[in-house]
Amino acid sequence: MEVIVAKKSGFCFGVKRAVDKVYEQIGNKGPIYTYGPIIHNEEVVRDLAEKGVQVIENQDALSKVTTGTIIIRSHGVEKAIYDMIETQGLECVDATCPFVKRIHKIVSEESQNGREIVIVGNPGHPEVEGIMGWCNNQPTVIETTEEAEKFACAPDKHICIVSQTTFNYKKFEDIVEIFENKYYNVSVANTICNATEERQTEAREIAASVDAMIVIGGKHSSNTRKLFEICSKECEHTYYIQTLDDLYLELPKSVRLVGITAGASTPNNIIEEVQNYVRINF
Ligand code: SF4
Repeated sequence: MEVIVAKKSGFCFGVKRAVDKVYEQIGNKGPIYTYGPIIHNEEVVRDLAEKGVQVIENQDALSKVTTGTIIIRSHGVEKAIYDMIETQGLECVDATCPFVKRIHKIVSEESQNGREIVIVGNPGHPEVEGIMGWCNNQPTVIETTEEAEKFACAPDKHICIVSQTTFNYKKFEDIVEIFENKYYNVSVANTICNATEERQTEAREIAASVDAMIVIGGKHSSNTRKLFEICSKECEHTYYIQTLDDLYLELPKSVRLVGITAGASTPNNIIEEVQNYVRINF
C-alpha cells in the first residue's frame, strides 16, 4: 500500500521542545515534576510516570514541594508560579513555548505602561490563565463578538489586544474590528500561532487526494477531532484511531493510497508504527 504521511502531523515545535526537555531531565538528581501534564497524551504521561516524573496539578500541591525540579509546560504559567518555585528553592526548567513567552513579554510591558490589556481567548485555558498572570493590571478576556460589544472603558484609554496562540484567526479579526470601531487607541499583536492551521490545511489537501485517511490522536483531543471532521469531508473512508491497537481496517479493494495525519499530542513513534503497519499489511 502506498502511504502519504502529513509532514505537519503530531507534535508542533513548542510541544516537541517541552517533551524533549522532560526526557532530558530524567536521571538527574532529585524528584522531577511537571506543572500540569506535559501534554494531553495518556501514553506519554504514563511513560514519564514510570520514569519517575510526577505531575503537580495546582499551586496548592506546588506549595508542598520542598525539593526537586519543576518543569513548566509549553502553555506557560503565571509569574506567581515562577516566584513560588524560586522562593521554595526549587530548580525550574522552563519549557514555555517561545511564542507564548512573547505574549507574556508584551502584556507585561504594555500593562506596565498603563495600557488596558485584552486577551482574546478561552478564559478557562491554562495558556490564557498564564498570560493573565503576567499583566500588571487586571486584564479582560474576550472569547466572543458579543463580549467584545459589551466591553467598556474610557474612550481615550489605550487598549492592547493579544490572542491565545490557538485562537481562530477569523474570530480574532472580527473581535479586533469591534474594538477598532469603538476606540481610537488600539494596538493589536496578532499572537496566533499558525501550527494548528498549517496542520489542518495539509490534512485537508492529503485527504482530498487519497482513497483512505487515518487520523491518529487522543479520544479527548479537540484538535484531533477537528482534523477528523476536516478529513471526513474530503475522504469517505476516514478513520479515527488512538494507537495502532485500534486499527482494524477493512479497506475496500479499490484503495491504493492511504493518507495519515495526527493531532498535536501524538508522538512520532505512534505515527511511524501506524505508517509501517499500513505499508506492510495492506
Ligand atoms: Fe505549539 Fe504554536 Fe502552541 Fe507553541 S504556540 S506550543 S508552536 S501550537
